[in-house]
Amino acid sequence: IVKNIQDEESIEELELLAKTAGAEVVAKVVQRKTSYDSAFYIGKGKAQEIAEVAKALEANAVIFDDDLTPVQIRNLENLIELQIIDRTTLILDIFAQRAKSKEGKIQVELAQLQHLLPRLTGKGIELSRFGGGIGTRGPGETKLETDKRHIKRRISYLKKELQKIKDSRHLLRSARKFPVISLVGYTNAGKSTLMNALTNAKVSSNDRLFDTLDTTTRLLILPDGRKALLSDTVGFIRKLPHEIVEAFKATLEEIKEADLLLLVADGSSRNFEEEINTVFKVLKDIQADNKPIVIAINKVDKINSSFILPLNSKNTVEISALYKKNLDELLKRICENLSKTRKFAEFLIP
Ligand code: GDP
Repeated sequence: IVKNIQDEESIEELELLAKTAGAEVVAKVVQRKTSYDSAFYIGKGKAQEIAEVAKALEANAVIFDDDLTPVQIRNLENLIELQIIDRTTLILDIFAQRAKSKEGKIQVELAQLQHLLPRLTGKGIELSRFGGGIGTRGPGETKLETDKRHIKRRISYLKKELQKIKDSRHLLRSARKFPVISLVGYTNAGKSTLMNALTNAKVSSNDRLFDTLDTTTRLLILPDGRKALLSDTVGFIRKLPHEIVEAFKATLEEIKEADLLLLVADGSSRNFEEEINTVFKVLKDIQADNKPIVIAINKVDKINSSFILPLNSKNTVEISALYKKNLDELLKRICENLSKTRKFAEFLIP
């Protein structure tokens, strides 16, 4: 993994992303160069150094913390002779592995194609030249080697499909009886695990109505017997690529319409504060930072007892989604905060 200058954030974040995508990191390179190299991004000398290190360590790919231009990718590939992966490709790969709903899969493919399109040259970029792995996975996999015209046609088809799903969901949502809780959080914080832990046992076949449309919305029965919709959303990441923001606009907008945000944070992460700040920043960017919020500090089973939480709020609950620890307390807190919202008040009227 390679990180360039000017960015005060640690290389650990890139390492975490690479591992999340399934890579094993064998070497980290931080380049402190003050000028930008348009041909090689990190400069030719450094690129040659990396080529030698990568060869010695038998690496399969080199991952860069920023987006690379088509020229840089081609030059680096020719010099290093390994698969070159830029930040957006890495993040899209993580999203491709995680997309579960039809809508999510379409959104990821759309983002992958939009990232790929300007990087296709006359010769074409053979992204899968070095075999399977990061950047070649996901719904867009078989399309990566096709030409621009084909990709453009595919993009407009996906956009139409997305619109269809959006329309039908809009209908469903407009008739919704229940308040909506949106799960938000950094990628890998444990949102899906929590969603399953909270809803699995309690989903009857009747309640699977929403599954057919979007598997990421489920009915949640609250401790007092009342119902809410729990909706999983896109995972947040620092420097979220604009292709993702664009493709996931509908999902992000949904967060704005939620009655309550359930923020899941990985309490065992070394980058805990950075991750939670990223989530707050995205929420602010999409103007969803004024919503009632309950924060679940997840994976406490991995934290030793002397750990002191940097967050101190009565709306913070320490849980383990995996081991179903303290979920009752979490649901109680959700109940309390949900009853403050307008939708829930309406719902209370017989
Ligand atoms: P998401 O990206 O936020 O949906 O995260 P996932 O639900 O996919 O979880 C990411 C990883 O964290 C998975 O390997 C989970 O098994 C793990 N995980 C989730 N919750 C817990 C927990 O409470 N404790 C531990 N130790 N691991 C967890």
